Amino acid sequence: MNNRQVALVTGAGRGIGRGIAIELGKLGWFVVVNYAGNAAAADECVALVREAGGEAIAVRADVSVAEDRDRLVNATLGVADRIDLLVNNAGVAPSVRADVLEASEESFDRLMSINLKGPYFLTQRVAKEMIGRGTGGQIITVSSISAFTASVNRGDYCISKAGLGMTTALWAARLAEYGIRVYELRPGVIATDMTAGVKEKYDSAIAGGAWPIRRWGLPEDIGRAVAAIARGDFPFSTGEVINIDGGFHLRTL
Ligand code: NAP
Repeated sequence: MNNRQVALVTGAGRGIGRGIAIELGKLGWFVVVNYAGNAAAADECVALVREAGGEAIAVRADVSVAEDRDRLVNATLGVADRIDLLVNNAGVAPSVRADVLEASEESFDRLMSINLKGPYFLTQRVAKEMIGRGTGGQIITVSSISAFTASVNRGDYCISKAGLGMTTALWAARLAEYGIRVYELRPGVIATDMTAGVKEKYDSAIAGGAWPIRRWGLPEDIGRAVAAIARGDFPFSTGEVINIDGGFHLRTL
């Protein structure tokens, strides 16, 4: 019998998801560390969550595949009895950054499946579970500054993240009556494998003052925001968008 609060975090083996899992571990939570293919990274994350004071298991599942989403939720319930918090974090950048005049339908379909369809339907699946249990819950989706920033060399990514904005609004409006609160986190540029290939570009952007807080974001920055929500410190807020971007979203003159 599990007595801990339970979080299902997608894409938690590496990067931002790992940062989130560790911060939940510090709160003593049971964390289901979902990953797509890198089992070694997921096992490492499980060990780090335990070290932080939590409990964890790793479950492989591709969030873009319905049977995998189902298996992921069933595996969580099988071991941890319930889900108090879903964090839709898994996401991918396009394999090739291509100008919108040239970018392929294959890339578009891949990004929509993983970044948008996956979170949308995993939320549907978990929400039904939370409604059935009748004790509320919280759902957090990790979008991006790309939800409102036009990058013409990865239009598919931007569209998928913009779609998560409406996903958040829809689920927040629909689930409030069941005591389920829904939030969107919009990270700026965060130091992970996803941004490792464009490190120099962002190093010089930071030096040039592209956002007011002149440093790279860290997975821990996102993890701490998730922990604040997980603690239940926003009881009268839902559908809220939290920018974690060093102030990138500000307009200045
Ligand atoms: P990352 O370092 O590339 O890690 C991605 C994680 O997602 C990995 O754990 C990976 O699993 C998992 N994953 C990929 N495809 C999956 C799928 N189909 N099903 C389940 N899991 C899958 O990326 P990150 O930088 O941490 O990004 C995490 C989230 O933050 C993404 O949604 C990204 O769009 C968003 N974001 C990132 C930044 C940034 O600057 N890094 C900025 C804004 C938003 P494996 O380890 O098994 O491959």
